[in-house]
Amino acid sequence: MPPVPPTPDELARAIRNIPDFPKPGIQFKDITPLLADARLFAGAVDLMTARCAPGTVDAVVGVDARGFIFAAAAALKLGAGFVPVRKKDKLPFQTIEERYDLEYGTNTVAIHADALRPGRRVLLVDDLLATGGTARAAANLVRRLGAEILEVSFLIELAFLKGREKLAGLPVHSVIVY
Ligand code: AMP
Repeated sequence: MPPVPPTPDELARAIRNIPDFPKPGIQFKDITPLLADARLFAGAVDLMTARCAPGTVDAVVGVDARGFIFAAAAALKLGAGFVPVRKKDKLPFQTIEERYDLEYGTNTVAIHADALRPGRRVLLVDDLLATGGTARAAANLVRRLGAEILEVSFLIELAFLKGREKLAGLPVHSVIVY
């Protein structure tokens, strides 16, 4: 018999809250206990991809670094390719970049200039939506390459940080909302 799929509540119970990591005031959501459990990991990927029919997604774009874990698994499940959005200066070929503001300072993410052809249908994936700056920048990169974003999918959303507002105009889905 196949294992019983986990509910979002069960997934949430496997996520550990680490206070003041990596700096004071941050409640870090540690997903490693969830990832270590085969049934929970598979269930998380299933819930993150539930609205995508096989054959409708050309590429899953994952955001450095925990986004890669879910995006690669989602790509295999959906029969799609995997495309990384990485932190600046990590990708070896020609890139395009997007800079965005953090609480203190800025961050820059990049994608290979040939990673997506115009019209490609993309599922954009990250582990967690906080202020939305990272996902907005990643979405901008995808759009600049002419690809179409079908959905932006997160395992976790910290709704009080209002990241969804930065993603206005894009279909956003989160499995677990705090
Ligand atoms: P943001 O750009 O503010 O939406 O931040 C999202 C990115 O930062 C994601 O790639 C997350 O992996 C990471 N992140 C932000 N806040 C947290 C948190 N409280 N716990 C774990 N990861 C976080």
